[in-house]
Amino acid sequence: MIKKIEHLGIAVNNIEASIKVFETLLGTNCYKIEEVASEFVKTAFLQIGESKIELLEATHSESPIAKFLEKKGRGIHHIAFDTTNLEEEIERLSKEGFELIHKSPKDGADGKIIAFLHPKSTDGILIELCQDKIM
Ligand code: ZN
Repeated sequence: MIKKIEHLGIAVNNIEASIKVFETLLGTNCYKIEEVASEFVKTAFLQIGESKIELLEATHSESPIAKFLEKKGRGIHHIAFDTTNLEEEIERLSKEGFELIHKSPKDGADGKIIAFLHPKSTDGILIELCQDKIM
């Protein structure tokens, strides 16, 4: 089941500068900076209530974030939905005809397992499904 919007992912050119912008905007401090080596991204998280903002900076020219910035420029990169059971959601959405970038859960940032849906099948919006990693 999809529970809520977990976070919005925003592609940025300079994560240090963007952290300052969003800290000032939201009146709260970034609580985590984390590099996801497999995706060539550096992430930073800010929390407001139940929702989070994830800032994403490319760490390599082959990073999906570098490609996104090249094509579309800065801005909202993806919407992440929290799920109660990621594997079940992957199976359900795949049966419904959605195109999955990841057909099984993989490690994401901020203690989550994740899977992305291709924007081709979701009206042009990159969708991330996530679930808390069981520690
Ligand atoms: Zn995300």
